[in-house]
Amino acid sequence: MIEEAVDNRLSIIKSIAERIGEDKLRLDNELLLEYSRDRWAQGISSIAVFFPETTEDVSIIASFLYDNDIAMVPRGSGTGMTGGCIPLDKAVIISFDRMNRILSINKSQMTVTVQSGLILEDMQRAVESEGLFYPPDPASADICSIGGNISENAGGLRCVKYGVTGDYVLELTVVMPDGTVSRFGSHARKDVAGFDLKRLMIGSEGMLAFITEAVLKLIPLPESAISYKIFFRTSQDAVLLLNRIFMIGIIPAKAEFLDISCLNLIAKKFAFKFPEDAGAALLLSLDGSKSEIAEYEKKMKPLIENAVYVESSSGKSQDKIWELRTQISPSLKEIAPIKINEDVSVPIDVLSDLVRFCEDLAAELGLVIAVFGHAGDGNLHVNFMITEEQKDQAKKGVELLFCETVRLGGTITGEHGIGIAKAAYAGIRLDPVVLKVCREIKRVFDPKNLLNSGKVFYGELHERHLTGRII
Ligand SMILES: Cc1cc2nc3c(=O)[nH]c(=O)nc-3n(C[C@H](O)[C@H](O)[C@H](O)COP(=O)(O)OP(=O)(O)OC[C@H]3O[C@@H](n4cnc5c(N)ncnc54)[C@H](O)[C@@H]3O)c2cc1C
Repeated sequence: MIEEAVDNRLSIIKSIAERIGEDKLRLDNELLLEYSRDRWAQGISSIAVFFPETTEDVSIIASFLYDNDIAMVPRGSGTGMTGGCIPLDKAVIISFDRMNRILSINKSQMTVTVQSGLILEDMQRAVESEGLFYPPDPASADICSIGGNISENAGGLRCVKYGVTGDYVLELTVVMPDGTVSRFGSHARKDVAGFDLKRLMIGSEGMLAFITEAVLKLIPLPESAISYKIFFRTSQDAVLLLNRIFMIGIIPAKAEFLDISCLNLIAKKFAFKFPEDAGAALLLSLDGSKSEIAEYEKKMKPLIENAVYVESSSGKSQDKIWELRTQISPSLKEIAPIKINEDVSVPIDVLSDLVRFCEDLAAELGLVIAVFGHAGDGNLHVNFMITEEQKDQAKKGVELLFCETVRLGGTITGEHGIGIAKAAYAGIRLDPVVLKVCREIKRVFDPKNLLNSGKVFYGELHERHLTGRII
């Protein structure tokens, strides 16, 4: 009986390929498995992977699958950290790998129109060569897709001053789960006609509709920038400096924090030396016109006088300062077999409370917890570095961390989304009314519940669906 159902699904899938082109369908096991994982975990294998090239292809695929009650999962580049593109049921993956074209750059309108599978960095390079700027920059910019960024409302390093992905989305071409096509939003910078459905798609984690094209807002490229690497005695000193910078009216383009665990690990892996009395570091980038930068330098001087160590640079040599940030991930990989990476976010005035809480939690649970991240917008990556035996302790720690974050007025995820990884904890942050409304909205878009279902607000851990260990 089950085999018959699988055969039936396969014949429907093959008939779709006959319509859109057989080279757009892959059924080989190795690829099916590869396209059923992200950076969080390996899921169960999908039934098939489609590689559409146009909105029309996506529409044909979706309408056939929907009519035949076959589950579907949209997939960007699979760099997500919470299992968003992992199939839970035997589902068909719709990959946007081949929808990777820039359709137009409109300099006078300051917009770029792209297909959703385009790699973010490819788009950033193209618009920068025209003197324009698309600021959102997740650290995965060279490997993640624009569609994935919109679906997760990706953040990154430059969000302090410039905002997140959602702040740059003007219009989306979407394919509803049943295959119908629509456009949400417009090219206009201001648009209040009807409910803001484009905004609803931002951060929807692939659960409402497929995004096939996006019109994104651009701004002028800043003229100049200066970067600082500053070491402090304590984490609290680092956070305090950040608050003082805001108070004198400077909004840094980037403000990244590294705790002492991160510094020690980088020192070990990269033979890097930092001052003995340093207990935390802050990396800053200030950008603007040349005269603004000169002004910022003057204002910064008295604020950093008492730091343990300060280094600043401009131009190309700024890369050297930011090396410290890129060295964190490879250093973390070496110290423990399992990394549980949370990305909690709090209002900036209680950031130091969150940092202190993490230090106390590490001591209380006897775990290594390495903390770094986007301090400028209160979004920290809290990494539980553990062994298999410490898993239960870490789970307890994660729950305590989420409760404390929400108590401080913050949230359990600032940029990675809930996906499968945090579905069991959604209720800590989202009250029953919000959960109910989210489920109702899902029903309006997808009455048969076939598109990437069972995630985000279904409040269950789906470990039974994962074949590989959590990465
Ligand atoms: C080294 C590294 C650094 C990272 N740094 C950051 C960071 O600084 N900031 C940050 O925010 N994130 C970061 N991430 C996480 C990740 O890169 C982002 O979440 C990114 O937005 C995911 O894009 P993707 O194309 O890989 O999406 P995927 O992982 O393929 O999918 C993510 C979700 O989007 C949905 N989706 C994808 N494409 C579409 C589409 N076209 N239509 C509808 N739904 C779709 C999927 O179903 C899934 O739910 C990092 C990841 C890595 C590996």
